[in-house]
Amino acid sequence: TAGHVNWDVTLRVDRLPEPDGESRISSLRSSGGGSAANVAVALSGLNVDTGLVGSVGDDENGLLARRELDEAGVDLDGLLTVPDGQTAVKYLLVDEQGEVAVLGNDGANEAVTPEDVDPDYVRAADHVHLTSQRPDTAASLAETASEAGVRVSFDPGRRLADRDFSAALDAADILFLNDREAESVLESEYPGSEFDDRVLVVKRGSDGAVVHTPGGTYEHPGFGVDPVDTTGAGDAFAAGFVAALLESEDYERAVEHGNACGALAAAEEGARAAPTASELRAFLGEAF
Ligand code: ADP
Repeated sequence: TAGHVNWDVTLRVDRLPEPDGESRISSLRSSGGGSAANVAVALSGLNVDTGLVGSVGDDENGLLARRELDEAGVDLDGLLTVPDGQTAVKYLLVDEQGEVAVLGNDGANEAVTPEDVDPDYVRAADHVHLTSQRPDTAASLAETASEAGVRVSFDPGRRLADRDFSAALDAADILFLNDREAESVLESEYPGSEFDDRVLVVKRGSDGAVVHTPGGTYEHPGFGVDPVDTTGAGDAFAAGFVAALLESEDYERAVEHGNACGALAAAEEGARAAPTASELRAFLGEAF
C-alpha cells in the first residue's frame, strides 16, 4: 500500500459540530490511522504479506505510528521519517450514529517523491494499492507497477475533487470510490466510458457496494450492523476486496468480503477495526 500515515485522535461527541452550536465530548482516545496505513494493517490481519510506502515526522506520534505498524507485521522499508517533520494528526469527531467529521493536518504526509520509492520494491509486489498522496508519486508507483504486470488499485478519497490524479487513474486497474465521489468523478473529465476495460468499485455505506467489471456487474447489499464509528470502513473494505482477489479472481466474492470487512470495521471504534482472517471467516460462516 502507498499513501497517508496519520496519528488519529477520536473524540466521541453527542453531535457533529454545526456553525450555530457546540458538541459535547464524551471520550477521547488515540491510535494510528491514515488510509494507506489502515489498509496495510487490515491486509496484514488477513494474512497478506504487506509493505507500506509513506512518511511520518521524527516526532513522538511518528514513533507511535511506526510501532503500531511494526507490531501489526507491516513491512516498513518504504516508510520515510522526515527530519524536523511532524506526523499528520487527524481529529475524528464521531457522533452517536458513527458518522465522522475530520479535522487536522497532513503534516509530513506528502513527503514521498517518486525518487524516494525503490522501483524494485514495487515490482516485487503481487498487488499495489494506492491511497491519497502526491499525484506525481501515485502516478509513478502506478506506472512502475503496471509496466511490471503488477495489478494496481487506487482509492483516491476526497482529494480527488481538488487534485489532478489523472495519470494514476489512467494506470490503475481497479478504482475504489464512495458513492459521493463516484457521482462527481463520472460527471467530470475523469474516466467514465474509458473505464470500460477496467474495474470500478462504488462503496455505498450501509447499502454495501457495486463492482463494474468488463465481465459483468456484481452488487452486494452489505451486512446489517449497528454502526459505532465508520472511520476506516472504506479502508477495511479495500483490504477485504484486495485480499479476496489475491486468493481468487472472483469479483462476486471480493465485493462480499469487502462489505463484510467494512461492516465489521464500522461496528467498532477506531480506524483499525477491520477483522482478522478468522474473524472474517466466522462472520461469513465459512467453516475451516
Ligand atoms: P468510505 O468510508 O470510503 O467513504 P463507505 O462509507 O461507503 O466508504 O464505506 C465503505 C464500506 O464499508 C461500505 O461499502 C460497506 O461495505 C461498509 N460500511 C460502511 N458503513 C456501513 C454501515 N453503516 N453498515 C454496514 N456496512 C457499512
